[in-house]
Amino acid sequence: MRLVLLGPPGAGKGTQAVRLAERYSVPHISTGDILRQAVREGSELGIKANSYIAEGKLVPDDLILDLIQHRLKSEDGRRGFVLDGFPRTISQAEGLNELLRSSNEKLDAVVSIEIDPKLLVRRLSSRRICPSCGRNYNLISSPPQRPGICDLCGTELIQREDDKEQTVMRRLKIYTKQTAPLKEFYRSKGLLKQIDGEGSIEDVCQRIIKALQ
Ligand code: AMP
Repeated sequence: MRLVLLGPPGAGKGTQAVRLAERYSVPHISTGDILRQAVREGSELGIKANSYIAEGKLVPDDLILDLIQHRLKSEDGRRGFVLDGFPRTISQAEGLNELLRSSNEKLDAVVSIEIDPKLLVRRLSSRRICPSCGRNYNLISSPPQRPGICDLCGTELIQREDDKEQTVMRRLKIYTKQTAPLKEFYRSKGLLKQIDGEGSIEDVCQRIIKALQ
């Protein structure tokens, strides 16, 4: 399975991507997670990406395409993938096509999770993340077992700097301007599946699986 998940920040891409990757036994590849880890490690990529992420801006396409090329060529990346947060621009989508073409592969589907923009700010303000292992929580829909503590590694949860309200507004604007046009790009290739992203995590997951059958 080679799947792309599209949707504005807060639509639930990460949550659904984890489930879909498990169901289809392919890796979940989140460019946001990879970049945040690079920032934590202080690698060259992390140093270059840090200010873009903190300000809610897109990291330049060439850095992202390098990162994806590397990841898709890795052992498990060749089996298939669920891409979360990539591509985010037409130029990234064209780069992905090129990469797949060069290894005789193609996407099976692009799922766009659709959600009322008013809900997004609320969802993002209740999102928390583990700064150590990167696991996401939502204080309302998927809280940790012990308040404020990661279920997996016991670290204290934090709010992502870019989930604060002003940065969220910028990220939503960038999504509308630069990423939403990808829907037309993929619709014209017959790959787009639009899914209602409201309701429980399980309901949305079932809608996606049904659309993929
Ligand atoms: P995310 O976790 O997908 O919301 O990504 C968090 C931040 O990482 C974004 O606001 C961007 O600064 C950066 N980022 C993640 N993926 C990409 C991408 N495909 N292109 C450019 N920047 C990205």
